[in-house]
Amino acid sequence: MIYFDNCATTKPDAAVLSAFIKINETFYFNAASPHEKGLETNQLQEEARSQIKNILKLDQQSIVFTSGATESNNMALTGMARAKKAFGRTIITTEIEHPSVLETIRGLEQEGFAVKYVKFKEDGAFDMDHFRGLLSPDVILVSVMHVNNVMGAVLPVAEIAEVLKRYPKVHFHVDCVQSFGKVPLVIDGVHSFSLSGHKFHGLKGQGLLVVNQLRNLAQTVYGGGQEYGFRSGTSNVAANVTLSKAMRLAMEEMEMQRARLYQFKQEIESFVKQYPGIQLNSQAGGAPHIVNFSFVGIKGEVIVNAFSRRGIMISTTSACSSKRAKLNETLTALHVDEATITGSVRLSLSKYNTVEEIEAFKEAFKEIYSEVEELLNK
Ligand code: PMP
Repeated sequence: MIYFDNCATTKPDAAVLSAFIKINETFYFNAASPHEKGLETNQLQEEARSQIKNILKLDQQSIVFTSGATESNNMALTGMARAKKAFGRTIITTEIEHPSVLETIRGLEQEGFAVKYVKFKEDGAFDMDHFRGLLSPDVILVSVMHVNNVMGAVLPVAEIAEVLKRYPKVHFHVDCVQSFGKVPLVIDGVHSFSLSGHKFHGLKGQGLLVVNQLRNLAQTVYGGGQEYGFRSGTSNVAANVTLSKAMRLAMEEMEMQRARLYQFKQEIESFVKQYPGIQLNSQAGGAPHIVNFSFVGIKGEVIVNAFSRRGIMISTTSACSSKRAKLNETLTALHVDEATITGSVRLSLSKYNTVEEIEAFKEAFKEIYSEVEELLNK
C-alpha cells in the first residue's frame, strides 16, 4: 500500500506510539488526584507543556491541551467572539477554511455575529486590499488557516498580523493544522492558533490551542476545571505528553523534510502536467506536501478509485468534508472552474514517502491515463 493522503491523517511515529503505551502503563493516574501518583502524573504533563512552549518559542502565551484542532478552533472562536461582543460583532474569515472554523462561525451568526469573507484574486492569492477594506471598528475577530488543506495555498499570516497591529481590539486566530512541521510557523502578531497531533505523525485525539491572554477567553466547556478552567475533563496525559514528542520530531525534521517533499511535489507536478487534459491546481509557492491536479472532464472519484485498486491511496477532497459541495466552495473561492473542480484529486505527502513510491505513482498514472484518455477534455 502506498499512502498519499497525509492531509487526512498520518501514520503515527513508532517512537510516539510506544511512548503513548508506556505512559498509559506507568502514569495512568488522574493528573488532578492529590496523592503522590496523581502529583507525579501532573508533573509529567506540566513538563510536556513547558517543552512545547520551548519548541514553539512561546513567551507569554498559554497552552490548552485539547482533543484536536476541531475542538481548539471551536473554543478559540466561540470563546473570543463571546468575550469581545461588547466591542463589536463582526468576524472576518475566508471561504476556504476548514468546517471546524466555518461551521463555528455559522453558529456564531445564529448568536447575532456578522461574518465577512475575504476574497481571493484570480491567481488564487489572498486579496490583501479586499481584507483591508473589510476592516471596520465593529471587527473583533479574524480567523484564517495558514495552509489550505485542499490546494496547499499558504495564506499571508505575517502580513495579516502586520495590518492588524493597527486594530488592537481584534483577536487574530490561525488554524495551523496543515502548516505545523511543514512550513515555519508565524507567531508574531497571532493571538491564538490550533494544532492536531495526528497531522504530523502524532496520534488522533491530541491537540493544542495556544492563546495569548487566556484570561480574555470566554469559557465554553464546563466541568472539573482542568486546563486553567477552559477545557474541563480528565486530562489525557499520555496524549498530551506524546504530543510534545511528536512536535519535537516534526520541528527537528522540518527543514530536511520540507526540501525532500518539495522535490517530490515538483517531480509529480512536472510529470502529470505533460499529459493533455491534466490541469495543475496547486499554486506556485504552496505548501511542500500538497499536490492538486485535475483530470478535466472526469470525476475525481473515478480516478481515486482507479489508484485505490492499484494500492495507492489518494483523495478527491478533504476526508473531513466528504460532501462535494464543501470542496466546491473552496475551489470556487479560489476561482477554479467547474470541470477542473469535478476532476480534481489531491496527493498529500509525508516523511514516510519514498522515491520508489513516486515512481510507482507515475507507473499507475500512465495506466490510468491511457484507460480514461478518450474521456478527457483536452
Ligand atoms: N483545520 C484544517 C485545515 C484541517 O485540515 C483539519 C483536519 N482535516 C482540521 C482543522 C481539523 O482537525 P481535526 O480533525 O484533527 O480536529
